[in-house]
Amino acid sequence: LWAGVRSELEARVGSHNFATWIAPLDLRAIEGGAADIACPTRFLSDWVSRHYTRPILDALSRQGAEVERLNFTIATGTRPAAAAPAQAPEQPAPRVPARGIMGDDEMSAPLDSRFTFDNFIVGKPNELAHAAARRVAEGGPVTFNPLFLYGGVGLGKTHLMHAIARERQARDPDARVLYLSAEQFMYRFVRALRERTVMNFKELFRTVDLLMVDDVQFIAGKDSTQEEFFHTFNALVDQGKQIVISADRAPGEIKDMEERIRSRLSCGLIVDLHPTDYELRLSILQSKTDLFRATYPGLTLCDGVLEFLAHRITSNVRVLEGALQRLFAFASLTGHDIDLDMTQESLADILRASDRKVSVEEIQRKVAEHYNIRLSDLVGPKRVRTLARPRQIAMYLAKQMTSRSLPEIGRRFGGRDHTTIMHGVRKIEELRREDRSMAEDIDLLRRALQM
Ligand code: ADP
Ligand code: MG
Repeated sequence: LWAGVRSELEARVGSHNFATWIAPLDLRAIEGGAADIACPTRFLSDWVSRHYTRPILDALSRQGAEVERLNFTIATGTRPAAAAPAQAPEQPAPRVPARGIMGDDEMSAPLDSRFTFDNFIVGKPNELAHAAARRVAEGGPVTFNPLFLYGGVGLGKTHLMHAIARERQARDPDARVLYLSAEQFMYRFVRALRERTVMNFKELFRTVDLLMVDDVQFIAGKDSTQEEFFHTFNALVDQGKQIVISADRAPGEIKDMEERIRSRLSCGLIVDLHPTDYELRLSILQSKTDLFRATYPGLTLCDGVLEFLAHRITSNVRVLEGALQRLFAFASLTGHDIDLDMTQESLADILRASDRKVSVEEIQRKVAEHYNIRLSDLVGPKRVRTLARPRQIAMYLAKQMTSRSLPEIGRRFGGRDHTTIMHGVRKIEELRREDRSMAEDIDLLRRALQM
């Protein structure tokens, strides 16, 4: 039911509004004429109830639900809007088909016009991948084949591949450039089998100059597709044609991939996109901000907001972009400055989702290291002051940063009683307020633990 409501709403309010306001919502129950809708933040629920109640009610009734009212519940477990890659909203970007590709539009996946080299921010974690991509885009003699790009979700693999396709095509309009996901490769192959057009399929794939297959891990375990891919791959390499492959992990790590394919994939240059670091995230945010400013003129972005985001949202660039986009959307709709308060409020769900899960053990290790004491002493029975204070700080952080209960924390502190832990936590809460340098110390530790 909810899926139907969602797609109807998406059509009605547009994909941009949908992604910002509706996607984070979840239907929990319908009872007594009221739909109970879970929503990650108060801010979002206020906005949605003021602006989208009618459309949601309409859509519900068209899906056959008898509902007169919406009740919003603030729920921490709700999916964050931009954080779940599987259903991250497609951003409304003009998608244009690449030119010059096989003379057959159907063969090439559309390229996203934002994914260019100009828009790709280079930093330590991705400089090698970027340099290799540039080299391939320049054309010229094939020096490494294939170029194998791998890395976690949202680190820029697809962006780089589109950039290569675009650049290569711009430099050489006659070159036959083919970009597609491994999934599309499979569907086309399966369709060719069904329609008995495998010869055409083979022919087409064997006449490209540059073949790019994104997310190749997808065909692991799909035997006949793997087989066909292997033959295509070999035929092109034999002809000296360039191939670029991406995956979410290194070739050797792809399970259910035939050994001979894995070793073929490893023959060229393998580069990984490392997780972003703080500097890279900040530069990406700065460059995206420039773009958003053009779309939403006249908004005030306060100092410290970008730094805060770069610090807190470490998961992937797509989430980072989504967060920024939501901030600008909120600000433009409410006329609010983008300051730290509004950032924390409107991004509560995303921030929560990207808080790194820290274990009590990690906290203990970090605290011991910070105060230069032994871990065994930190959790041991000695009561000297030089140990007692750091111990209480570790208890305090464990309570704050993990979801462990007091008895569970007690057990990890050498079997202490939960009242001891509570006492320690209270003590530090008190001291924090009075003692500035203690507060700073704790902040520092917390940040180090979140890295
Ligand atoms: P992947 O294919 O590795 O999952 P994408 O290429 O789809 O990741 O990137 C996710 C989003 O993050 C895209 O919108 C992309 O433009 C952006 N992005 C990733 N890395 C960078 C970067 N270095 N500079 C600018 N934008 C980036
Ligand atoms: Mg991708």
